[in-house]
Amino acid sequence: MNNRQLFLRHIAQTSPSPIGIEMVKAAGIHLWDTTGKQYVDMISGFSVCNVGHSHPKVVKAVQDQAAEYMHLIVYGEFIESPQTTYARLLTDHLPSSLNCVYFTNSGAEATEGAMKLAKRVTGRSKIIAFNYSYHGSTQGALSVMGDEYWRNAFRPLLPDIFHYDYNSWEVIDAIDSQTACVILETVQAESGIIAPAKEWLQAIRQKCDQHCVLLILDEIQAGFGRTGSLWAFEQFAMVPDILLLGKALGGGMPLGAFISSRQMMHTLTHDPVLGHITTFGGHPVSCAAGKAALEVLLEGNFINEVKRKEQILLTHLVHPTILSYRSSGLWMSLQFASDEIIRTIIHQCIQNGLITDWFLFAPDRMRIAPPLITSDEELIKICELIIKSIEEAEC
Ligand code: PLP
Repeated sequence: MNNRQLFLRHIAQTSPSPIGIEMVKAAGIHLWDTTGKQYVDMISGFSVCNVGHSHPKVVKAVQDQAAEYMHLIVYGEFIESPQTTYARLLTDHLPSSLNCVYFTNSGAEATEGAMKLAKRVTGRSKIIAFNYSYHGSTQGALSVMGDEYWRNAFRPLLPDIFHYDYNSWEVIDAIDSQTACVILETVQAESGIIAPAKEWLQAIRQKCDQHCVLLILDEIQAGFGRTGSLWAFEQFAMVPDILLLGKALGGGMPLGAFISSRQMMHTLTHDPVLGHITTFGGHPVSCAAGKAALEVLLEGNFINEVKRKEQILLTHLVHPTILSYRSSGLWMSLQFASDEIIRTIIHQCIQNGLITDWFLFAPDRMRIAPPLITSDEELIKICELIIKSIEEAEC
């Protein structure tokens, strides 16, 4: 049995048509399959590899930490320097109110932890979320996900959750003294990149303050320079009560985090003790990898170049078949006339050595989120290949 047959037979399948290419190596912006064919990763492994695949500094950090120790004990008992030094680096680059980090295994677990924290801090249960938002696939995170098609088969879900349209002013009236938290993506990802109006986000912040409601911003995709600042919320002159991180947080290793003030986080220590429990959360190898990746990101000029590179994409990705664009930094969605057309174009891109995809709630939009280390020349070449793929797809 070859590896493809093993994949289809023994690996639980969740897609009727997985990409199904076997990669054997990844470095920088490239991946290579078993035949030696090279691909450009235009989606950064879904916004994970912001500093590229297997950056040498990240690989070294993984190797060094694995040689020292890997798992020791459940989260929060021993002092593990990969956790403490990474938490220090993160909080050094966050507003002073976000000074305490709970490291999790994944983005979804960060969402779960944050929702629990909001309930615990406020003593309330009502949660406000947004249509077409994605915060993870576990049952709590699924309950705040913003699309009934994806939620319905798993009901009953969490009660007391209310969804509103992103950027709609209707939500402001709904934030009241019964509300524990408002959870939203600083820039919506899976709806095909939708940024909030600054006044809208600030009005949510104000209303949350008025009623002591916690504001949770999910930057699991939007964080780590993707939108042109280290954290997307910096561009909206406001600060969340809880910040969710994941994906690029681990530099290619599994890691999530919810970050808030020490005072709020302290509620997890009593009534009941161990308010959130995780065995592998904050794994030392993941923390070492994530810290190395963040250092690479901060030491390079990558984030400062994001907005200029966004313009390169916007200038070169012009074709009559592309109906509209939405972008936020090096993060873009291209709209085509139908889901079928986009599937053909994505297939053709893969034939031409470009890995791309669609969006969960916008299947007529193509996802473009290259590693932030991609050079100008590489971006121009990628654009030319996309246009070539569109023309070859003959749609
Ligand atoms: N939040 C956002 C915005 C995401 O894009 C994702 C994953 O795609 C998650 C949360 C969940 O993260 P994970 O897949 O690590 O559970």
